[in-house]
This record gives sequence, C-alpha cells and structure tokens, in this order.
Amino acid sequence: MNPPEPAPSPPPEPSSSTVPAPALGHTHGDELLRLESVTRVYPMGGTAVKALDGVSLSLRRGEFVAVMGPSGSGKSTLLNVLGCLDTPTSGRYVLEGREVQGLTEAQLADVRRKSVGFIFQSYHLVPRMTAARNVELPLVLAGIAPATRRERVREVLDAVGLEPRATHRPDQLSGGERQRVAIARAMAARPSLLLADEPTGNLDTRTADDIMALLQRLHAGGLTIVMVTHDPRMGARAERRIGMVDGRLASDVVLAHVESTR
Ligand code: ADP
Repeated sequence: MNPPEPAPSPPPEPSSSTVPAPALGHTHGDELLRLESVTRVYPMGGTAVKALDGVSLSLRRGEFVAVMGPSGSGKSTLLNVLGCLDTPTSGRYVLEGREVQGLTEAQLADVRRKSVGFIFQSYHLVPRMTAARNVELPLVLAGIAPATRRERVREVLDAVGLEPRATHRPDQLSGGERQRVAIARAMAARPSLLLADEPTGNLDTRTADDIMALLQRLHAGGLTIVMVTHDPRMGARAERRIGMVDGRLASDVVLAHVESTR
C-alpha cells in the first residue's frame, strides 16, 4: 500500500491555448511530436503508391490542427502514422520525445493506449454496450482498477454532457450523442493527442457545430487535437490548417482569428 508512488503517467495540462505554431523544422521545448521526411509507400502491383511523400511537421502541445485536402491526398495515412496505427516506410517520427520507429507491435499498442485518443466519422462504438461501458472499455484494456475506471467514466461523460445517458446503448442515442460518447471514450485514458477523422462528417450542421464547440472546449483545456475534415467551416475553427496534396504538405497556415462557436 505504502511504497512511494511512481509518477502518474498523464502529463499535467498545459495552461495556454493560443500559442502560434512553429515554423517547419524548428524544435521547441513544448513540442509534442515531430515528423521528419516521413514517407509511407504502399506497393501496388508493380508500382508503389506514395501515400506520404516526405512529410515534415512539428506540433506543439495544445495545438488544434485541421488537416484538409482532396481525397487520396494522404490525410488518413497521416493520421494513422500520428496515432501509431501505421509506421513510416522511411523518415522519423518522434512522439513525446520517443522514437516511434523500431517499436514492437506491443510497444506501439502501449503508446496508442496511453498517448492517443481516436474519434471517427462513424463513431465505432460497440453496439451492445451502454455508453458507460463503451467509455470504460479502453480503461479495462489499459488495466486500470475498477474504482478508478468508474470515476473516470463519470468524469468524461460529464465533460461531454452525457452523464444522464450513461446507461443508454448507441442505438438509443442520436448521432451527436454517439459522437460525444466516442469523444468521452477517446478522452478516458487522458491522452496527450486526440486524432479525429471527419468527426462531424455524419452530422447535421447544428449537431456538427455542437461537436466542434466541444472539441474547442477540450482544446481550451489544453488538449492537442489533429482533425481531418473536408468541411471548410470546421477547418476554420482550428488554429492551424494544414493542406495536403499528393502525399505532401502543400500549405501550413496558422489562423490569426479563430471563429468561436460559443
Ligand atoms: P485521404 O485520407 O486523403 O483520402 P489516404 O491517406 O486514405 O488519403 O490515401 C492516400 C493514398 O494512399 C491514396 O492514393 C490511397 O489509394 C493510397 N492508400 C491508402 N491506403 C492504402 C492501402 N492500404 N493500400 C494501398 N494503397 C493505399
């Protein structure tokens, strides 16, 4: 019971939210991640598709980045690499000071569980589980004790405004509510990085605005978010907008004025 406690893994929340993005290639004390000349090549018959073609990118803690670009430009591949679901064919990826290349599958899974939360256009909830169980699942997989899990589930469901729906199954929830559950699940393990793949793609405009407002609130609390979106209205609400074309970074703009939904 009483040996000295190891430092808990979740890092403290950074306090500020509106720091400008760094110029490409620079390193900073509060850098969360860095890609250096990353490629991801898929062999396709006799040829090779370069889904990522020399991407270099540095993200600071607390940034809210929108990734935009035409279909097939490499946005999902970029998100997968950032989330350690996929690894570069060449180049370097450093996440929280740790070299990602060379990690085993088990180590990558561990990085994903501890550092990364994912949300998707189609929510990816387990249909037969209640909202609370869906949120709890990653905590079970991470080996977190039941009492802590219950407390954490309540806390994140409350943060997304869904505590009253805790015992509902996904089919008893609206699209917006399902995405809130998915966001709560992504936040449960207190990740350093939230990756969102078209998070508002299945939602009507008003609900999409609500979900964006929620993401902006989480960002204001210090969370780093990278969001792929086709929707310029959503992109305009991020602080930094990265444009991809043919597997390359075609633009990287820090918006001076960020439209708020609240
Ligand atoms: P986006 O998300 O911008 O639509 P993707 O990252 O999904 O783009 O894809 C980038 C390119 O890589 C596309 O040409 C796509 O066909 C190719 N690609 C993606 N995943 C695979 C895969 N598993 N096998 C072969 N090619 C792939």
